[in-house]
This record gives sequence, structure tokens and C-alpha cells, in this order.
Amino acid sequence: MVTFLAGGTGTPKLLDGAAAVFDPADTAVVANTGDDVELGGHLVCPDVDTVLFSEGGVLNRERWWGIDGDTTETHDELHRLADAAGFDAGPRYLPDDAQTAGRDIARWRRFSGVAEFMEIGDRDRAVHVTRTGLLDEGRTLTEATRTLAEAFGVDVDLVPMSDDPVATLIHTPDGTLHFQEYWVAERADPTVEDVEFRGADDAEPSPAALDALDDEVVVGPSNPVTSIGPMLAVPGFEAALRDTTVVAVSPFVEDDVFSGPAADLMAGVGEEPSTAGVADVYPFADAFVLDDDDGTDLDRPVVRTDTRMDDAADAERVAEACAEALEVAG
Ligand code: GDP
Repeated sequence: MVTFLAGGTGTPKLLDGAAAVFDPADTAVVANTGDDVELGGHLVCPDVDTVLFSEGGVLNRERWWGIDGDTTETHDELHRLADAAGFDAGPRYLPDDAQTAGRDIARWRRFSGVAEFMEIGDRDRAVHVTRTGLLDEGRTLTEATRTLAEAFGVDVDLVPMSDDPVATLIHTPDGTLHFQEYWVAERADPTVEDVEFRGADDAEPSPAALDALDDEVVVGPSNPVTSIGPMLAVPGFEAALRDTTVVAVSPFVEDDVFSGPAADLMAGVGEEPSTAGVADVYPFADAFVLDDDDGTDLDRPVVRTDTRMDDAADAERVAEACAEALEVAG
């Protein structure tokens, strides 16, 4: 049995080749939910959904989010209506008192659906409507996720890190932005002064995630701050990682990042934006998988390979390195 920790890019890429090395029937994937937002009343879980769609074989692999070939008629009509009414299209947070009203799971990340600021495809939206409906019927986020995973024919056990609300908020010189506003609306442009995981202190790991953390764990090449950080902020999660064998794939080659805002976010929370910095924030990792060109000298065992993943064959090579690292570490 093996458990992968996933954000929305690196681990989903790694999972593309993992089935050849780790039997999907014995594989769990714990997905970050710090990025989630409630948009127009529907809970959107970007990292859960990227795994759902990639493992279900429908992911739009050019954009790395949403469903391949999806249409956007509803989204386009929402913008037409907002334009006609003269409404501003930026992220439209609901008022402060609405942030803790309504569904608990949506706290501190409630946005109006007027001129929705994230593009939600029509089929994609059906996922959010179904998920939110299941929550309203009294299911947990874990149950809703498993139901959706079955509908997409996902072979691994995909579960959210928590059934409770945790909101990743980015503090900038111009104020506090939800991670989705920072990433989607502001394109990671604002200076990061700090990152907060609001609600994490009162959250618990989902029982399914805790179970999965009894097994050996692979932290895929993830954003350490905004994909793994929310998990580590939930009490009990890091302790469970300390108690099991963990290997982590670096999202850096020394201080070069493959993609995304990981370097700015690491610097923003006072960590070195590099493989060495990742090792510092993962004290529970027993071994690392680093790129052949990454000469970082770590205090823990290292397995090296070409960690760039452009296709399933690349992912299989990195998954094999993870299996080797688990052996070395265990
Ligand atoms: P997010 O949810 O989209 O922010 O993505 P993740 O948490 O999954 O992490 C993105 C990280 O994956 C970035 O820091 C990238 O450097 C890293 N990454 C993306 N592609 C690759 C790759 O092919 N190989 C490796 N080793 N890392 C990658």
C-alpha cells in the first residue's frame, strides 16, 4: 500500500506513470483542499478535481485543469449578464458576515457567482453541483469525492486531506487574497509577505487520510507551501508523517523551479526557494528523489533520476525512483 500527497500539478503528473510501479488498487491519493472556494454556491476543489479528471482520463492536459473539450456556455452567459448590468468582473467576495454563514466547509472562501472569476466549464460545473448537492444532503467531502471518483472510473482511492474548511490566504502589501484570487485573478503577481491556513487549527485530517498515512507515503513534486503546507497545518497530519516512511520528490532542480509560484511562496514564508529549502520544510521525509542535475547535498538518502515529466514514460521513471527511495528509506 502506498499513499501519494497531491497538489494540482506535480503529483497528478507522477500518477500518470505510477500505475506501472504501484498497483492502483493499493494506492491512495490525499489531495490538498486549501485551494478550494465556494463560487456561486458551489464548492470547487481544484486539486481534488485535477486528480479526478487526470485519473479519469478526461483532464485538459494543455491547461492542466478542467475537462478536455468542455464548453463554457454557462460561464460565458454569466459574464454577458454581468457586463449588461455593469458589474465588475474581478473576484467578488461575499461580505465578511457571509464568510462564516451557510455551509461550514466553505468558510473564508465564499465568492459571488456574478461574473465568476474562475472559468468553470459546463461539464466541470456538473461536478461542483453534484459535490455541493452531496454535501447538502449530509455527506462528507470524503464521501462526495469517492462518489465522484467512481463516476469518473478512478482506480486509486482519492480522498481530501480534511472534511473541514481550511483556506489558504496570501498576505500581500496590498491586503489579503485567497489563494485562488492570487493565482487565477492576479496571476501570482503580488508580493507574498506571508501565507495563512485559516481554519487549520480547528480542522482534523479526514479519517480516510489518516488511515492512508499509516502506509508508506510519497510526496510528489508539489508546491511545499500551498499544496503540502495546508496538510501540515492540520493538527495530527505531520505527526502521522513522522511515524511512517516518507519520500519526497523535489519540485526544484537546486534553485530552479519547474513551473508555478513555488519559489516566490517559499521566499514569502522565509524558506530558501530550492531543494535544500524543501528538505528543511519536510523534516519528516526519510529520503528524497532529486534530478540528475541537482547536486544539493542533503542529510538524508537521495535517489537521482531525470525528474522532468512530460509524458507517462517520464512519470514511470520517477515513480520507479520513488519505489527505490522507499526501499532505501524503509
Ligand atoms: P499546484 O497545485 O498547481 O500549485 O501544483 P503542485 O502543488 O502539484 O506543485 C507544482 C510543483 O510541481 C511546482 O513547484 C513545479 O516545480 C513542480 N513540477 C511541475 N512539473 C514538474 C516535473 O515535471 N517534475 C518535477 N520534479 N516537478 C514538477
